[in-house]
This record gives sequence, C-alpha cells and structure tokens, in this order.
Amino acid sequence: MTKEKFQSEIFTLKKFYEYYCKDNHTNLTSNNITLEYKDSKFILNITLCEDCKKNIEYSFLKVQECKHEIKPRCRKCPNPCYDKSHWKNTAKIMRYSGIKLGLVSIKRKIKNIFK
Ligand SMILES: [Zn+2]
Repeated sequence: MTKEKFQSEIFTLKKFYEYYCKDNHTNLTSNNITLEYKDSKFILNITLCEDCKKNIEYSFLKVQECKHEIKPRCRKCPNPCYDKSHWKNTAKIMRYSGIKLGLVSIKRKIKNIFK
C-alpha cells in the first residue's frame, strides 16, 4: 500500500481504539509510538489503557506487515493475518466506535443545518 494509505490506516485505528477505550476503560496513559513504513517515520501520540495499547501495537504491526499492494478491508481479506482473539477484539472495537462516531457526525450535520 502507499504511505498515504498506511498513514490513514494507522490514524483510523488510533481514533477508533481511543474512542472505545475512553468510553470503556480506566487508567489511560499517553504515549508516543513511532512507526516506520517504506522509509518514512510516523509518530503517533496515543492515549490508551495498558491492554488497548498492546492490542493496537499488534494491529499496527499487522498493517506494517500487510503485503497487499492495494489493501482490502481486513474484513474482506482473502488471507487474514490476525489471530483469532486479536481479530475478535479489534472487530468489537471497530464496530463500537464506528457506530458511535457515525452517530456523532450525523448529529453534528443536523446541528449545522439548524444553525
Ligand atoms: Zn482500553
């Protein structure tokens, strides 16, 4: 995948994980994570609990190792690289935050209309 795609993948993961973690967990800490991809460095400041941090690092690693030139959605991937327990957990987080963030942006749109 391109660097731009890689960047958008990791920022989506960050956004979804942080949203889920903030709503469901306690003892969140802030950390800088540096990821390398195709000679570029990406620095992310992530605020997560210890468990979510481990899980997102696993997800980041999988994105880094993804061999698809045009990355499919993981859900539709012909040869998924996640192990079962990580996959279940990540799918749960993506679903939760996807719904919540979807609702949040719809609300914001409605507000803008009535301004
Ligand atoms: Zn968490």
